[in-house]
Amino acid sequence: MRQNIVAGNWKMNLTLQDGLALVSEITNMVADEATGSSVQVVICPPFPFLYSVGKQLPQGSNFHLGAQNCSDKESGAYTGEVSGKMLQSVGAEYVILGHSERRQYFREDDFLLSQKLKAALAAGLKPIFCIGESLETREAEETFDFISKQLKDGLFHLSNEEFAQVVIAYEPIWAIGTGKTATSAQAQEVHAFIREQVARAYDAEAADNTTILYGGSANAQNARELFSQPDVDGGLIGGASLKSRDFTEIIKSF
Ligand code: PEP
Repeated sequence: MRQNIVAGNWKMNLTLQDGLALVSEITNMVADEATGSSVQVVICPPFPFLYSVGKQLPQGSNFHLGAQNCSDKESGAYTGEVSGKMLQSVGAEYVILGHSERRQYFREDDFLLSQKLKAALAAGLKPIFCIGESLETREAEETFDFISKQLKDGLFHLSNEEFAQVVIAYEPIWAIGTGKTATSAQAQEVHAFIREQVARAYDAEAADNTTILYGGSANAQNARELFSQPDVDGGLIGGASLKSRDFTEIIKSF
């Protein structure tokens, strides 16, 4: 089901104490300033904080817990890995997969990501699958070919039922953590293209039901304009998710 979602990716930041304080500030502000919309909020802290942060989220509310990564393996002798089932057992509902930082720094390719997607789905998690082009790709005017290949190789191997669980995040690499946001027109253009590709790979109903988030220097100032685009269903927020006032403003931007 297509939903409005604001997800906060804390990356490798904060201590547990800082994280718990941040969550309590955000949940208090959101409760005090009633958003009046049905936006779903997904908090994605580092692995060691998941259980405690999850316990601090108001139960049965629009707040959900997400992880930033998971293993492609189910269980076994894989030192340092964390499985989808483990994440699910500590309360995670979502998992970010394919983030450009994991593709770049940890050499995660489309094949590995396709395996991670399968593993996450088998554990009952909803993947937030990230795609997006580099500056070179955009300047070479190859954005649409690139996005189309990432979708085909990474995502479109899923069955209709599996695909229905996936949230897509369009995150142009040149906009992540750089302060350079895609304009709302640039975001809308790619989001509409992604939806069209989903319609081709699955069908029009699947495309209409797909939640597509924008990520890349989204903040309290530009979120409203970005979220007003017809194919932008919310945001995956990095830097601004670490500031309670900014993140709350973004949540209220629908
Ligand atoms: C991200 O890393 O997913 C992200 C969007 O980061 P930022 O908002 O800091 O650009």
